[in-house]
Amino acid sequence: MTVADYFLPRSLPEALELLREHGPSLLVMAGGTVTMPLINEGISLPRQVMGLRFAGLDGLEPVDGGLRIGATVTLTGLLRQRHVPMLAQAARRTASWSIRNMGTVGGNLFTPPPGGDVAVALLALDAQVEVRSRDASRTLPLSEFQTGFMTTALEPGELVTGIGVPAVAGETAYLKFGRKEANTPSVVTVAVRVRREEDRVVDARVALGAVGPHALRASRAEAILVGSSLDPGAIDEAAEAAAAECDPFDDGVASAWYRRAMVRLFVRRALEGLAQPVAVEGR
Ligand SMILES: Cc1cc2nc3c(=O)[nH]c(=O)nc-3n(C[C@H](O)[C@H](O)[C@H](O)COP(=O)(O)OP(=O)(O)OC[C@H]3O[C@@H](n4cnc5c(N)ncnc54)[C@H](O)[C@@H]3O)c2cc1C
Repeated sequence: MTVADYFLPRSLPEALELLREHGPSLLVMAGGTVTMPLINEGISLPRQVMGLRFAGLDGLEPVDGGLRIGATVTLTGLLRQRHVPMLAQAARRTASWSIRNMGTVGGNLFTPPPGGDVAVALLALDAQVEVRSRDASRTLPLSEFQTGFMTTALEPGELVTGIGVPAVAGETAYLKFGRKEANTPSVVTVAVRVRREEDRVVDARVALGAVGPHALRASRAEAILVGSSLDPGAIDEAAEAAAAECDPFDDGVASAWYRRAMVRLFVRRALEGLAQPVAVEGR
């Protein structure tokens, strides 16, 4: 069986109409970096494919101190923006230049672990996912959009049209640990954001990737950090809590045991970096 129809809508209304007309049998493809290998290997054999490349979803603009990212903005586009440094860091640590030139931010929300490295940073930034069908639109937090391993809250007939990143105060750290420096699947990805007032943490986000069915927040670790001065005791306790509350898995990259140990280590490193007045970047 081969693909019988390939649609390239030139606008969002056209894309949504095609989706309504053809239903779930129409495979949505953005950059194709996840979907094309599956088609090439015969794992996925869709009769109909819709490419989003020309659907007009590639705008990226600052909004009220935050950022609105169109669903088909490429990872390279995200890397080049300067408004939200943690998102540029996350894009830089995702895949390779060739994949980043094709792969999209919207597609990253659907990428199963150990992928989804950008989604981890978006989760720490309280990102909102914009969803549209032909007749309705809604916005939901990324924390509610990803519901399980390769499952989302997207309903039939809906597309992700963009991602909103609110203006968030505070300091951020993003660390991805893989077997290699570049173009490597994650053992664990950590994105942290803390806001401090008079040396006390008043708000904290600890987001983890590759250690659960989707990007997840370590809420017990966050609760430990709030009220602390990011002192070594609080950092140790939060790192321990994050390791306990994640849900790691075994694969060819790492064992669940190792992933959990690396959560403890990399959450601690991220927080220690924020406790000191130096920027934390990279590994
Ligand atoms: C060699 C290689 C290395 C990689 N390394 C990494 C890595 O280090 N980190 C990482 O996170 N990922 C990695 N990836 C995975 C992938 O490249 C990225 O996650 C990318 O962001 C996926 O985006 P895409 O547009 O190519 O998705 P696509 O392949 O186009 O789509 C993926 C899924 O998302 C759905 N989808 C996409 N956009 C929409 C939309 N707007 N609305 C509704 N559904 C949509 C599609 O239907 C499909 O199910 C790698 C891939 C390859 C091939």
